[in-house]
Amino acid sequence: MTNIRVESAVNSEYFGTDDRAKYPFLSETGEYIRENDISVSKLAHPDFKLVVKRAEERVEEAINSHYVSDKIGENLDVEIMSFPVALMLVKATKLDHLIDLYASGEAKRVQSFLTKDMSERTQGTTERLVRKFLGLGLETAEVQNVFRIGLADYLKRETKFRDPRWRLVNRTVHNGKVSLQRDDLIQLIEDEMRSITVTRLKNMNLPKLPAEFDSVVRKLIQIAPPPRVKYTTLNIGPENYPPCLKQALLLLEKGENVPHYGRFLMATYLLAVGKSVDEIMDLFPKSPDFKKSVTQYQVEHIAGLKGGRTKYTVPSCKTLQTHSFCFKDPVKCYEISSPLQYPSRRIPAAGNGSGNVKEEKRKGWTKAPR
Ligand code: SF4
Repeated sequence: MTNIRVESAVNSEYFGTDDRAKYPFLSETGEYIRENDISVSKLAHPDFKLVVKRAEERVEEAINSHYVSDKIGENLDVEIMSFPVALMLVKATKLDHLIDLYASGEAKRVQSFLTKDMSERTQGTTERLVRKFLGLGLETAEVQNVFRIGLADYLKRETKFRDPRWRLVNRTVHNGKVSLQRDDLIQLIEDEMRSITVTRLKNMNLPKLPAEFDSVVRKLIQIAPPPRVKYTTLNIGPENYPPCLKQALLLLEKGENVPHYGRFLMATYLLAVGKSVDEIMDLFPKSPDFKKSVTQYQVEHIAGLKGGRTKYTVPSCKTLQTHSFCFKDPVKCYEISSPLQYPSRRIPAAGNGSGNVKEEKRKGWTKAPR
């Protein structure tokens, strides 16, 4: 067996070996595999033991911590090769929800590297990555940590983000270019990376894996969590509001100031569970800076009745955490990404919890997951 070599791919004009270890989804990884004639049948050879081990570990990390670690050992080749092998392992489990979980874990790994690269080193790698991988024309603005991308490219992507700060009206647009802060750009790449990995996995034609992989695949199936429950929202009463909303209401009740994101959460959440603008307005009079006309306009704007007629959605838990307005209940907020998923008073849409009875049977699940 040929020892694993990456030199043949090092001649890329764009990326070094360490970049490929960090960003193994680059097309150079495929070229490297082809150039070194590494076929799937060869993966069972002892020379690839570390590659398969790291691939298994990548998937396990995504399952256990929703994050593929950004540790890179001395052998960069192992890190590079383990990514396509991990994709094959995920595909071999035939668990659709593991595709999403794994893709998110890999995207977070990329986010971690980008954050370091853009603060510690030059921004060159990131810019090349964005140009090559996302096909985006990226300009660096005169102001540090500000970038610009074309309006059309931006519009294609902004709808994926629920947070109002992504709306075009909240962006600076100049000469057909939209300005993005460094963290926004990283978030954009992370999201793109996630959806490209999902697409890649969904479209993958899995070759026959060596029999030695069977036990690894079985183990991953065993430790994979059940799919997320699809919930049907019932009429949610105040006793079942999520802790963040309860906190906002408590502050209002005490006549204390509610931070911007607390107010935004209140309006979006209560509209989402069927409250009217008037009912929401009734909550505000104790607010220290209450001005009826201003508050009414803001709530109507959020409801899509005024201004750009955009109905705003409830901010994600991640956004609320970023803005220090999460008051997490460790049990009831477990593994939710939106206050609307707060589990009280919700019922599974179908089956015994996952909505996929066949898969539940295959894995032997008998109870609805939390
Ligand atoms: S985890 Fe989500 S729902 Fe729970 S308190 Fe935090 S923001 Fe609210």
